[in-house]
Amino acid sequence: MNRSYFILLSFFILSLAKYSFGQQTITPGSLQIQLLQKPIPVTIDHKPTLVYEMHFTNTSSLNLEITGFSILNLANKDTLLNYDQTALNSRLQPIATRNNPGKGAIIQPAATHILYIEANTSRRKFPAIFHHVRFKAAGDSIHHLERNHDTLTLSSTQPTIFANPLKGGNWTAVYDPSWQRGHRRVVYEVKGRQRIPGRFAIDFIKIDSAHYAEGNEDSIQNWLGYAEEVLAVADGEVASVRDDFPESATLAAHPVYRSEQATGNYISLKLTTNRYVFYEHLKPGSIKVKPGQKIKKGEVIALLGFTGQTTGPHLHLHLADSNSPLGAEGLPFIFETFTLIGRYPDFSKFGKATFNKVRPEKIRHEMPPSNTVVIFE
Ligand SMILES: [Zn+2]
Repeated sequence: MNRSYFILLSFFILSLAKYSFGQQTITPGSLQIQLLQKPIPVTIDHKPTLVYEMHFTNTSSLNLEITGFSILNLANKDTLLNYDQTALNSRLQPIATRNNPGKGAIIQPAATHILYIEANTSRRKFPAIFHHVRFKAAGDSIHHLERNHDTLTLSSTQPTIFANPLKGGNWTAVYDPSWQRGHRRVVYEVKGRQRIPGRFAIDFIKIDSAHYAEGNEDSIQNWLGYAEEVLAVADGEVASVRDDFPESATLAAHPVYRSEQATGNYISLKLTTNRYVFYEHLKPGSIKVKPGQKIKKGEVIALLGFTGQTTGPHLHLHLADSNSPLGAEGLPFIFETFTLIGRYPDFSKFGKATFNKVRPEKIRHEMPPSNTVVIFE
């Protein structure tokens, strides 16, 4: 069963009640704002972090432009986060599965754009917050409409705790919520509802100090992580398995797969109601488990491979709220422990230059930060 939150946000008018542009009128209600998922705070880089989206729908007959977005502390009205025009243009994206020619912060009539939000705080936990949104008729540079909405109730759910998914290291935890084509921005529409299964997905790629392959990297056998053992991150029951994808011996020979075949060979491990771990791109013939089988934390369940939609051998790992690789919402998870040893602040250097070493730090109950190098012990 999918658990879905659908919260229509109420609002009050801050400034102009309405504004007429030519023959047309827009009001604060011309922008419908929806929060489909209550964010679950997750600790990253020692900071409580929220990763969530809001859906903005233009209910007017004019093009609307979002010109400001802030998160404020409900208690003292301090601004915790502010997205300017440039940020909004890259963080607002039309729902791609519809025929929607809108772009960035400009939303056409009847169109919906998703705003991708990441916020963190140096406090121990997030205070009660509210959002402030500023918008106008596109082309009008003077008259802005503004909306606040009620306190955002954060989910009281705790992120799921994972044991090691792999052995040793060095593993680069590859993800970046701002990548336009990365996990977080890939929205799947299943039965008329848009979902983001990879909201918190991590691709683990093994490296030495700088390289992910020894010798010719076109040969997948040369990749350091290839055929490494993949482990159950918790006790659970195998919910589903797919093991019919072949593997190409070289990157060059790898076919292009449609997004419905993105997973390649995979295992879905059910931890509890509405909590499924997805292990993707597994090596053909390596899956050692069957649906219905009970698994213990730490068991070897498969080997890392190169199947499905991928550009090199790696383990794709994510947690979702139902047993569907694409038709589910991605949820945050944290590891019991990992040792952080480095970072790639500029990911274009990955595979070419050594990572920025940091003083090794054993971290408990956090998600590895974006594009960092970790060791599982
Ligand atoms: Zn992935």
